[in-house]
Amino acid sequence: MGAEGARGPESTVCFTMHGIAVSTGIAIGHAHLFAGMSAEVDHYAIPASDVVREQRRYDRAVKEVREELRELGESVRHSTSAELAPFVKVHSMLLDDDAFTEAPREIIREQRCNAEWALRVQLDELLAQFTDIEDPYLREREADVRQVAERVLAALAGSRQRIPVKPTREDATILVAKELSPADVILFRSHPFAGFITDLGGATSHTAIVARSMNIPAIVALHHARSLIREDELIVIDGTQGVVIVNPDRSVLAEYRLKQNQSRLERDKLKRLKSAAATTLDGEEVQLWANIELPADVEPVRASGATGIGLFRSEFLFMNRRDLPDEVEQYEAYREVVEGMKGLPVTIRTLDIGADKSLDGEEHLTVNPALGLRAIRYCLSEPDVFNTQLRAILRASRHGKVLILIPMLTSWHELNQALGAVDRARAQLRAEGVKFDEAVPIGGMIEVPAAAIALPMFIRKLDFLSVGTNDLIQYTLAIDRTDDKVAHLYDPLHPAVLSLISGVIRTANQHGKPVAVCGEMAGDVELTRLLLGFGLRHFSMHPAHVLTVKQRVLGTSLAEAAPIVARILKTDEPERLKALMVKLNA
Ligand code: PEP
Ligand code: MG
Repeated sequence: MGAEGARGPESTVCFTMHGIAVSTGIAIGHAHLFAGMSAEVDHYAIPASDVVREQRRYDRAVKEVREELRELGESVRHSTSAELAPFVKVHSMLLDDDAFTEAPREIIREQRCNAEWALRVQLDELLAQFTDIEDPYLREREADVRQVAERVLAALAGSRQRIPVKPTREDATILVAKELSPADVILFRSHPFAGFITDLGGATSHTAIVARSMNIPAIVALHHARSLIREDELIVIDGTQGVVIVNPDRSVLAEYRLKQNQSRLERDKLKRLKSAAATTLDGEEVQLWANIELPADVEPVRASGATGIGLFRSEFLFMNRRDLPDEVEQYEAYREVVEGMKGLPVTIRTLDIGADKSLDGEEHLTVNPALGLRAIRYCLSEPDVFNTQLRAILRASRHGKVLILIPMLTSWHELNQALGAVDRARAQLRAEGVKFDEAVPIGGMIEVPAAAIALPMFIRKLDFLSVGTNDLIQYTLAIDRTDDKVAHLYDPLHPAVLSLISGVIRTANQHGKPVAVCGEMAGDVELTRLLLGFGLRHFSMHPAHVLTVKQRVLGTSLAEAAPIVARILKTDEPERLKALMVKLNA
C-alpha cells in the first residue's frame, strides 16, 4: 500500500495510491478533506474561575453527541442500514463510560485547560492502552474510541454536521479521511458523495461492511491519502483494483469516464433481464434467489427479479436490543417478508447467533466464538427462545410459501433435537387451533465439513439443503472469516473446498434432494459456471448480484462446461486450476 509519483509543495502532479478495495465501482470527483481528530486541537489555559464553565461546555458537547447517537440509532434500526445499529450502540456505551463523561472534566480541573485539549489528553491515554492488545476484536474498539472522541470534539467546535450539507461543487465529491465511522458513512445517504477513501481500516472493518451494503466505491488502508491529497483535487477511485489516481491527466480521465459509462450502460442493460427466466443455452432452468437481513430488504429483492428468498438471516431482528423479540413481533416481521414476496418462496433461517453476531455484545467472552455456542447449538441450549421463533415462523407460513432453514447442523443428535423442536411447535399450534402450513419444508445448512462429509444422514431427515460456503470455507481451511490477517488464505478454489461442495451437490442430486448454495460463492459471477458444472441449479445471493449472475447463466452451455469442470476437480495445481477457470469463463 502506498503512493507512486512525487509531489512538490504547490504542484498538481498526477500520482497513484494503492489500498484495499472494499466496495467496487468507479468514482470520479473532487476531494473533500474530512477533518477529524487528526486535525490540530487548540490548547489554551483557563483561569480557575472558568473551570466549572468549561466543564459545563464539555458536558453539553457530550449530551449533544448522546442525542446525536440516539437519533442515529433510531434511524438505522429496522432500516436497510440496520447492520450499523450495533456500532452505534457501542459508540453510545463508550460515550457513557467514565472515560468520556468524567475523566476529561478532571483534566480540565487539574490542568486548567480548555475542554478540547482535555479530551485530546484523555484520548491519548486511552489509545496508549491499546498498543499491547493482540485480540483483534478489542483492537477494533480503538477505532470506536477515536470516533467517539471525534464526535465530541466536533460538538465542542459547534459543528454537529461535520460533513457539509451540500458539496461545495456541482460535480461529484469524494471524501478523503484518515478514518470514517460507519455512522459517518451513513450520512452519504443524504449527501451526494461519489465515494470515499481512508488511510486506516481493513477489508472487514465496520466501515467496509457498510460501504459494501451501500454500493459506494471505496478504498481503505491508503495510509497517506489524507496528508498527500489536497482539498478540491480531482480524484479517480477504481474500487475494483484498489487504486486511487490523483490529478489524472486528460487521457487517464477519459479512459475512466469511458469505463464508468460502460458500467452504467451495462447496469441499465442488465435491468432488461429482470423478468427473463434464468435458463442455460442447453435449456436448463436455474433458480436465482436472494439473501436478506431485514424485512426492509424485500424491496431490492423484488427489483432484482429474484424468484424467491433463499436466506433470511433472522438473527438481525434480534440484534441491537436488550430484550428478545417476542412471538408476535417476530411473526409480524416474517409475515411482512412473506406477504411482500407475494407467493414467492421465503426461506427463513432460524437464529444464527454467536461468532461475530451477538445478542448483547458478550460473544467475545468466548475464546473461540466461531467454534462455540453458535446457531443451532445456541438454540438447542435455549429451548424457549427457539420455540418462540419456530412458532412465529410457522404462524407466518399461512400467508405465503415459507421454508425453515436450520444453520450449522453437525451431528445426528442436533438434527433430531432440532426436528423435534419443530414438531413440538407444530403440535402446540395445532392444539391451540392456530392456522399454519402443515407442509412447511425443513432444511439444513451444510456449512460444517462434518455435515458435508456425513451428508446421507442429513439427506434422509431433511427436505432440502443449502450450502453455506462462507462458513464451510472458514471451517475447512481453519481461517477465521472475520480476521483480516488471514483473509488472503480464504480460498473458495482450494481443492478441499471444491471437493466438498461438488460432493454435496452431486449426492443431493442423486437422491433427488433440493440443494442450494447461499454463501458468497453463489453471487460471484466468476464461479457461476463452476457451480452449474457441479450440478447446482439453485443459487441464493445478495440482490445486487442477481442480474449479473443471470446474464452468465444465459450465456452458459452446460455441455461445454462439463469437461472443463471435470478437469478442475481433478487438479490440485493452482496455476493449472487458474488456467482452467479462465477457459471455463471465456
Ligand atoms: C454461509 O456461512 O455461507 C452463510 C450463508 O451464512 P452466514 O454468512 O450468515 O454465516
Ligand atoms: Mg453461515
